[in-house]
Amino acid sequence: MRLLLLLYLITMYACSPDPVADKIKHVQSVTEQVSDQALINASGATGDWITHGLNYYEDRYSELAQINHENVDSLGLAWTLELGTRRGIEATPLVVDGIMFLTGPWSIVYAVDARTGELIWKYNPEVPGRFGPNACCDVVNRGAALYEGDVFAGTIDGRLLSIDAGTGDLNWEIYTVDTTKYYTITGAPRVVKGKVIIGNGGAEYGVRGYVSAYDAKSGILDWRFYTVPGDPAEPFENAAMEKAASTWNGEWWKYGGGGTAWDAMAYDPDLDLLYVGTGNGSPWNRQYRSPDGGDNLYLCSILALDPDDGSLKWHYQTTPGETWDYTSTQHILLADIEIKGEQRKVLMQAPKNGFFYVLDRESGELLSADPYVYVNWASHVDIETGRPVENDFSRYENVNAWISPNYFGGHNWQPMAYSPETGLVYIPAMSNSHLYGTNPNWEYGKTGFSVSTGWNTGTGFDPSKSIKQDSLAPQESKGMLMAWDPVEGEMKWSVAHAYRWNAGVMATAGGLVFQGNAEGKFAAFRSENGEKVWEASVGSGVIASPVTYLVDGKQYLSIAVGWGGASGQSSKVTETVYPGIIYTFTIGGTASPPEYPEIPPKVLISGNITVDQDSISIGQGLYSQNCGRCHGAVGGGGGALPDLAYSSDRIHENFKYITEGSFESLGMPSFKNKLTSEEIHLIQQYIFNVAKELQDKS
Ligand code: CA
Repeated sequence: MRLLLLLYLITMYACSPDPVADKIKHVQSVTEQVSDQALINASGATGDWITHGLNYYEDRYSELAQINHENVDSLGLAWTLELGTRRGIEATPLVVDGIMFLTGPWSIVYAVDARTGELIWKYNPEVPGRFGPNACCDVVNRGAALYEGDVFAGTIDGRLLSIDAGTGDLNWEIYTVDTTKYYTITGAPRVVKGKVIIGNGGAEYGVRGYVSAYDAKSGILDWRFYTVPGDPAEPFENAAMEKAASTWNGEWWKYGGGGTAWDAMAYDPDLDLLYVGTGNGSPWNRQYRSPDGGDNLYLCSILALDPDDGSLKWHYQTTPGETWDYTSTQHILLADIEIKGEQRKVLMQAPKNGFFYVLDRESGELLSADPYVYVNWASHVDIETGRPVENDFSRYENVNAWISPNYFGGHNWQPMAYSPETGLVYIPAMSNSHLYGTNPNWEYGKTGFSVSTGWNTGTGFDPSKSIKQDSLAPQESKGMLMAWDPVEGEMKWSVAHAYRWNAGVMATAGGLVFQGNAEGKFAAFRSENGEKVWEASVGSGVIASPVTYLVDGKQYLSIAVGWGGASGQSSKVTETVYPGIIYTFTIGGTASPPEYPEIPPKVLISGNITVDQDSISIGQGLYSQNCGRCHGAVGGGGGALPDLAYSSDRIHENFKYITEGSFESLGMPSFKNKLTSEEIHLIQQYIFNVAKELQDKS
């Protein structure tokens, strides 16, 4: 009997196909096609989306036009996939031959059948929750890279993963950072000539930025380029660091220096140059970082590196001596365009500082820099010197000053797109301002906004100094989709959004620009004039960029929806924030919308107030120092993370345990040894008081 069963099993195994093994083989064989040559040839014309920005130019312009401005109103749902995550999703999916790869919150990687939306595999790198607060701006991840059958992704705790694209098994993983420091990885790796290029973040927390290249097969470190100099008592790593050190003074290395390369990269295969954008100073305030001034190279710069050895070929610093968190980590986009009758190879960027830069990407020469939003920190950029001309109040040294843009920037990480048809760059832009001042009592690691969670900028308000107003500076922060003419240096059209924090952009040959927004809508606009021609509801606010691709000759459109990120973790526009979902659309799609989980109605917490008003205001100060950055304003915040005015009785009954680390696996840090139980009590009293006031008002 046993023998018969064995014979039966052998026959079954030998004769019938194994669908799992077949699927693994299929995914392996399609992803093995992602070679150096395939990456060089990547474009929307191939019907795939195999690298972060669609191609090495990162233009996010698809040549697919089956979906176009004439039939876009017949777009319908093809499928949706619930990811079961509850934090921000900033990732651009990759698609090759009907297989999609996506990263989600906590650096989880997914492989999905793009025909059906079926999950093929999921790889969870099990990032310990205690690393969550190291991320300034939510536990997000902006995407993966593909190369010769493997998937690469960074993690919140600073690892670089190589995963077998077919099986979803780990090939190798390597820590790219010193985990005792506040480093994180949220950016997508890029693969150039068999090397996986990855940066990191953490410039709000006192780290020294760098970008690294690892061998794609072995995971061995090939080269590393630091973006700011270290302790000058130690030997400099290279000539670029020695040069950079002459633009710093004081003891900057003790505060890390910053300059983290946490997002933008692009590659020109003809020039063989890798472009990397660098971040803000650590701390933000230059008066503390480099007290006698200086440009502080290579903060807030665009670096052109040799991808073979990481050596610096040229740099352009958008914000010399930065002191406002004006990162140049924003999307770097390459294009070949005609300027003044001459065909130029350009690099374009709309960094946080509000100027739109066009550089010659071979030499780094500045061709133009025009303000794309209201800017008052500099009157203009001098084309001859390539330097901004600052206003006397801009550095808030002798005054507290309203400065535009603010630390969210005129544009943040949300990707732009460039259409060669219209010649326009589409920018998810923001108008805003902030009252910058110096924290007069700053002491490294001891004082400052949210310092108990590591955040340490040296900025604040100096009550001994006056306030410099600017009636033109936007008081309310607003978002918009903007079409920018990089040749004329002017805006062609813009569409206003209800809220500042919206999604990344994609343009197509169908004459369309696609963008999601904070109101839970995903929409298409005519690329020539901004007319809205289609809109779908997707439940929660959107921050990620969409992609488009062909499957079996049919064009699809996918967007990963998961509200969160820098602004979205602590505030929202939609009433409810649902768990992450991938939405995929096609012409004539008839799939049913996802079934959203039922969310219990919001109920204000009520608790006994046992302290006087003065103590409540101390509680308010402690709240904003320790809790506000993630949870937002009590009674008016709560995005990806809860608004504590509406927490359940159970949460508030266990408040002490939660603040001492019982929710650490969710990313809620322990404040043990940072806050006394009396201070925690005062924070809670403040929350109760706000809830009571809201109750009285209603
Ligand atoms: Ca920053």
